[in-house]
Amino acid sequence: MSENKDVDMDSDFLKTTDKNPSNIMPEKLTLDSHLQFECYPGVSCFTACCHNIKIVLTPYDILILRKRLEIPAHEFVLQYTEPTLLERTDMPGVQIKLTEDKKACPFVTPEGCTVYSDRPTACRYYPVGMADFHEAGSEENETPKEDKFFFLVKEDHCKGFDEPKTWTIREWRADQGVDVRDEMNKEWLRLIMRRKSYGFQASLSDAAKRMFFMASTDLDHFRKFIFESSFLDTYEVDKETLDKIKDDDVELMFFSFKYLANTLFGAEGLKIKEGKVMAKVQEIQQRQDESLKKAEQDYLKIKAERAERERSKKEEEDTLKKTKK
Ligand code: SF4
Ligand code: SF4
Repeated sequence: MSENKDVDMDSDFLKTTDKNPSNIMPEKLTLDSHLQFECYPGVSCFTACCHNIKIVLTPYDILILRKRLEIPAHEFVLQYTEPTLLERTDMPGVQIKLTEDKKACPFVTPEGCTVYSDRPTACRYYPVGMADFHEAGSEENETPKEDKFFFLVKEDHCKGFDEPKTWTIREWRADQGVDVRDEMNKEWLRLIMRRKSYGFQASLSDAAKRMFFMASTDLDHFRKFIFESSFLDTYEVDKETLDKIKDDDVELMFFSFKYLANTLFGAEGLKIKEGKVMAKVQEIQQRQDESLKKAEQDYLKIKAERAERERSKKEEEDTLKKTKK
């Protein structure tokens, strides 16, 4: 599968209301651009943005929230989320399940967010969106070009823009802890953007989608898959990595991104064991040999049928000649 030249990452899809493009300010901002904004319990709209909202969770969000709530990942997913498709692709993910009555986030109270210090990535971005365009180098040794910029999302109900406090985008992002989240989510977002750039003509099998969902939402399960299936018989993983991913969830998460990039898009980073490579090559060779044999048999059959047709045609012509005489 060949990779498209442009991969754009726009983390804006993690949080959406009724998507109104006019809320996106048409100005490209940098880390040094200024923003006049503040959000705190005194604003008249406090917690308005925690209702009627779609908040997509990244694997890191799930990991942090389920630790905060001290429940296993699968229980968190079952209780607090519902399925969604990620960024108009066929890749399955989860979003926060809003309450039936008020369409509110289950973590919001009149006093504010009950998981504030561990709130999801999407809740940290607003009102500053980020777009990140990557252009793969056309020559082998060419460094890929990157163009990262920011933009404001200004929604009518949000009164934070009327507050006098000013920040640079850099200061705002540091205050919200966005930089850390960007680092944690980067490779996962890249998988989704890669999928998006391939379009639907490239199909992803149901098994691949299931694996993506499992690795993205349930690291406990993914760890079992690594250590309790035939995974380690097939892949070469050095001892240092194995020691790390055994106990460290963040390391395991990064490893899962590498595994997904390798299995879904053929990216480098994971090596199949020598013996297994040979077995795979032999399997492909055997399949090719069998199809070659089959093609040869088909060819000989067609040749024999044609010879038979020509023989009987000649026979008919000879008989016809004889009767004319
Ligand atoms: S997680 Fe917290 S900040 Fe985010 S929507 Fe829910 S209550 Fe609001
Ligand atoms: S709507 Fe804006 S100001 Fe109001 S709580 Fe949400 S982010 Fe803060």
